[in-house]
Amino acid sequence: MESAAPIQHRESPHEKSSGPLPPAFVDKNAPRSDHVDLKRIEKAVREILLAVGEDPDRDGLLETPARVSRMYAEMFAGLRHDPGRHLAKVFAENYDEIVLVRDISFCSMCEHHLLPFTGSAHIAYLPSGSVVGLSKLARLVDEVARRPQVQERMTQTIADLMEQRLKARGVAVVLEASHSCMTIRGIRKPGSLCLTSAVRGSFRDDPKSRAEVMDLINRPR
Ligand SMILES: [Zn+2]
Repeated sequence: MESAAPIQHRESPHEKSSGPLPPAFVDKNAPRSDHVDLKRIEKAVREILLAVGEDPDRDGLLETPARVSRMYAEMFAGLRHDPGRHLAKVFAENYDEIVLVRDISFCSMCEHHLLPFTGSAHIAYLPSGSVVGLSKLARLVDEVARRPQVQERMTQTIADLMEQRLKARGVAVVLEASHSCMTIRGIRKPGSLCLTSAVRGSFRDDPKSRAEVMDLINRPR
């Protein structure tokens, strides 16, 4: 970036250390079990096939229940791990300006229809003495994505993890996604995009800082 006037973010509320700390982030989708009952999914898929009038014993469908059960285990793998683990390893670095990774593709599952929503995540943060490997941000997005959820909560989950595990002084997360529950069924509007954002710390408190990061996120590709 051609010397985008560095803003001093040293007045972040985290560094004033007066006032109470924000309540610890509670991950409502926190991993509960590391076991997926594949057989149970298989039975359920077979039931669905019967319910729609199909013959689950015909050739083409014979292995479908088992295949679908493995697919769900993969799509929901994020329920079995703490996505914040990717932020555990940091590197001490005396850099206190914006770090932004744009266009991290993801695929998640809408919890209302169990249909995928796919798109890109953009994550920016203001480090406080240490930075995280850039690929870890992509891993974080991947793991948070692999749960049944709504885009709004996914956005907040990523922002909260960044703020609390990384102790970032500012965090901005923007997600844009196409929801198949809107494009292939119901209202059927292909091309519609849903945008959500969550900002924390100085990106929320300081309008100049917020404008700077949103400008970087929206910079033409
Ligand atoms: Zn939906």
